Amino acid sequence: MTELTNSFHHTRATVRAAVGQTVSFASYTRVRLALCGMKDCHCGNPDGTRDSRYSLVLGRNGAYGQLRARVVDNQKEG
Ligand SMILES: [Zn+2]
Repeated sequence: MTELTNSFHHTRATVRAAVGQTVSFASYTRVRLALCGMKDCHCGNPDGTRDSRYSLVLGRNGAYGQLRARVVDNQKEG
């Protein structure tokens, strides 16, 4: 389990994946809406996080180029 946070809205959400693993686009959307559900809000990152140690980065993955989100540890990369 990895917890993602948004310091502006004081929200948090978890995904069932560790750093380096990927989650579905549906999970990415669930996290984004849980952290910041406001369409025109610019509080943080595209994944809804703000000042979060962990982030979700969207990308194409696998044989069919499926859209998935990778769990990233911001203290270790980028
Ligand atoms: Zn927001």
